[in-house]
Amino acid sequence: MKLRIITPERVVLESEAEAVYAETIDGEIGILPRHIPLVTPLAVGVLRFQREGRKEPVAVMGGLLRTDGETVSVLSDAAERAEEIDALRAQHARDRAEAQLKGQLSDVDVLEVKAALMRSITRLKAKERFS
Ligand code: ATP
Repeated sequence: MKLRIITPERVVLESEAEAVYAETIDGEIGILPRHIPLVTPLAVGVLRFQREGRKEPVAVMGGLLRTDGETVSVLSDAAERAEEIDALRAQHARDRAEAQLKGQLSDVDVLEVKAALMRSITRLKAKERFS
């Protein structure tokens, strides 16, 4: 299959993939060639694609996945291949979010900070699986 991951800024990845595993809002799905056509919302999570037998992680900050069984397209606000992830930046983002959650926050701010925490944890997870 052809896998393409796109954000507003750039094409993050264009690759052949033997299988794609992604976290949807309802749980993980595995996509193999000839999968039934599908569009599904993604959770913030680590997508993995198999290429030449190796599983490679990509941090995906939610969005939409679409497949017709031959191509898999992911459209997301932000996504990074594991090797692009700056682990120190993600650690700072995680520490900042955790510190903010210990303070007084409005409900809206709590949601925003929790989302930032999820993004940072996802980036660290993708990086960990890569190394
Ligand atoms: P930060 O607080 O560190 O900016 P963030 O979660 O608020 O993190 P996003 O808004 O999700 O960042 O992303 C903004 C841009 O920065 C996107 O292009 C994203 O790919 C990139 N980005 C964010 N964090 C990292 C990271 N740790 N390593 C590499 N690129 C990152």
